[in-house]
Order: sequence, then structure tokens, then C-alpha cells
Amino acid sequence: MRTITAELLTIGDELLYGQILDTNSQWMSVALSDAGIKVVRKTTVGDIESEIMTAFAEAESRVDIVLITGGLGPTNDDLTKPCLSRYFNCELAIHEEALAEVTEFFRSRGRELTEVNRQQAALPVCCTKITNAIGTAPGMWFERNGKVFMSMPGVPHEMKRMMTDIVIPKLKTTFETPVIHHKVIRTIGIGESFLAEKIKDWEDGLPPHVKLAYLPSLGEVKLRLTSLGASFETLRDEAEDLTAKLRTRVNQFIYGYGEDPIEVVIGRTLSERGLTISVAESCTGGYLSHLITSVPGSSSYFLGSIIPYAYDIKMRELGVRPETLEKFGAVSEETISEMANLVRARFNTSIGVATSGIAGPGGATPEKPVGTVWIAYSDKNKLVTRKLQLSTDRALNIRMASVAVLNLIRQNVG
Ligand code: ATP
Repeated sequence: MRTITAELLTIGDELLYGQILDTNSQWMSVALSDAGIKVVRKTTVGDIESEIMTAFAEAESRVDIVLITGGLGPTNDDLTKPCLSRYFNCELAIHEEALAEVTEFFRSRGRELTEVNRQQAALPVCCTKITNAIGTAPGMWFERNGKVFMSMPGVPHEMKRMMTDIVIPKLKTTFETPVIHHKVIRTIGIGESFLAEKIKDWEDGLPPHVKLAYLPSLGEVKLRLTSLGASFETLRDEAEDLTAKLRTRVNQFIYGYGEDPIEVVIGRTLSERGLTISVAESCTGGYLSHLITSVPGSSSYFLGSIIPYAYDIKMRELGVRPETLEKFGAVSEETISEMANLVRARFNTSIGVATSGIAGPGGATPEKPVGTVWIAYSDKNKLVTRKLQLSTDRALNIRMASVAVLNLIRQNVG
């Protein structure tokens, strides 16, 4: 099956000045990719006729579909329509249906139709008008030598409505587009390169129509399998088989599939098992609790947390023994063990977790450099501790340590 390619052309000086962010092309990329159309290039040009004409010609030479947004308005700096008229060598003329629509648009808002507005209904005679259900500038669809040019308003919600209701369905009937299937496998606790090493033979054996992407973010790596073919069901079943084979290699690192992040997966596990959790977090300063409580419904399993920064608060509010702090310091296996056990007992929860470390940039000692973090998990059957050696970046360390605790819960929850 031939790959259908597209180029996105966004027009407007304000995009080049950086006054507005080109969110249109990002949104269109997702919509086209979901429709099995491959976006191979994005171009932005200003409101200059020669630049626009050159961009049209270049795009036409390399792709099947050119999708344009912006520059459709009624003012003099809106050049897209006259440029398309010249490019396709057909004159502009009032389109009766478009005129009726724009007239109705203004009538329904109690406003008079000016001559400038009337000109919005002037379209190149060789295009097919695409109705703008929520604005005044119609879209324009051109076909030439098996290629399509489609021009849409720059206003994001008008473009999105036009794409969803008309353009995507029309492209799917105009071109024989493949079905596209994505499967996201979420891993945690293993770096990208180690993961790649472990699954090398599996990756090498993927069929040519299945592509693998590594999507690392702080503390986790998502694997995305994207496959193109003729039948969604066949692709889905194939992705399931491939995932089963992947599990035989790295099952212990896989925590979920699709959209749900680790805190959602943990929340589901705790709710399903009727377990409760409490947190004593020092170096993460509440971030771990924030992650846990960002999940709707978390109040059924998250009972509370304490953020004991000072030694005094660790002793008085949590009950950490002074000898432990004195002998081993706050960033130690002994202290973190007490913190996890004590918070569990004080809050009367099934699980207690704790963090204590040197987030940086200050506070380091030769034995405990910045990024040294202890984390612990405690339940009625076990206490598990882990020492992490993270980075020198404070924000990164807070995030990484919190995610590491979530992973510790995943690994140990009974
Ligand atoms: P209108 O007919 O409403 O004038 P238009 O097609 O002429 O629309 P522009 O004038 O180019 O579109 O842009 C209108 C507004 O839409 C811009 O001020 C901007 O806020 C937004 N916009 C334009 N292009 C983009 C883009 N690529 N990404 C995000 N927003 C955009």
C-alpha cells in the first residue's frame, strides 16, 4: 500500500515574529497521522506573495496533500486566496452558496454585511467550497494531477471543526489511506539504552510495517508500536502478539499500556485491593503526595502525608529516634526505614512510603553528594529501602525520586 504524504503550510507574519505559536500544525499532524496520512514537512511563510507562491510550488512537488491555514480573512494582508487563484490559474468570483452562508452568519448576529465581508464569498472558480460552520471564511479544496490543496482559516477552532467534519473524511475517500494502529507500552525503572539492549532481538525481528519509538520522560520510557496496514483488527492482534513477546523480556519494567501514568496505575491497584497509603516526604517536599492526589478518587486510598524537613519535626511529629538522626543523619537507610514504618503506624494505613535526600544544589557532603536519595516502602509484612543516585538538578531530583517511590509501591504492593 502506497504511503500518502502531506505537507502543512501555515501562513502569517505573526507566526514568524513569534507573536503566536503554531498550534495548528501540531494539531493537524495528530489528526492526519490518526487518519493514516504521513506528514513529511511543515512550512511557515509570512504574508508575502512571492514566498507563498514558492511554498505552494515546492509543496506540490513533494507531497500528495498540501494543507494550508491562515491568511483567509477579508483584509489586504490576507493573501492566501488571491495566491491560490493565481497558482491554479482561475479567477475569483462570488460563490452564491458561500454568499448565502456569510449573509446568514451576519444576519443571525444582527450585523450588516459590509462589502469587505461580502468578498469572503469570492472564491477561485476551480475550487470546491468547504463550509465554515462557525466562521465567515470558507475553506477551499483544489485537485490537480492527483494532488489536493486544501486551504482553511487560521483561527484554530474553525480549522479543527473543518478538518474533523469535512477534510479528514474527504481525504479518506479521495486517497486510499492505510489504517494506522498505535500501541503504547509504559516502562519504569530502566533507562532507555538498557531497555534497548534488553529488547534488541525483539526489535530487530519487528515486521517492516511496524515501527518502534522510544519516548523517554523523567523516570520512565514509553515504547510506541505504530503499524500501518489494511485492517485495524489484524494490526491490533499483531500488536498484542508482539507485546506478549516483549513481556517475556522486560515484564518486570512494564507498568501499563496506553495513556495512564504510573500514579493512575498505582491508584487503581490500591483501590482494587482496598489498601490505604500515607507518605513521609522530606526531599520531595510534597511532590510525591501531589502526584498521588492528582488522580481523581485518590481520597479513597490516600490518607495523608507529613513533610518533616527539620530534625526536630522528624522527631516530634513523626517519632524518628534522636539517636538514629545523630548517628546516621537524615539521609540514611536507618532514618528512611523509621520514617516509612512510623508514618504507616501514625496514619494507620496499609502502606507507608518515605523519601529523604539531598535535592541540591547545596547540602552535599563528600559521602553524600547532591542527588543522594533514600526511599522506603513499608507494609505489615515488609520494609524495602532503596538508595538512588540522581542528578545535580533539584527539580529533576524531586521528580525522579517521587516516580521512583511510585515504582517501589508497584513492585511491592502485595
Ligand atoms: P480570519 O478569517 O478569521 O481572519 P484567517 O484565515 O485570516 O482567519 P489569520 O488572520 O491568519 O487567519 O489568523 C487568525 C488568527 O488565528 C490569528 O490571529 C491567530 O490567533 C490564529 N492563528 C493563525 N494561524 C495559526 C496557527 N498556525 N496556529 C495557531 N493559531 C493560529
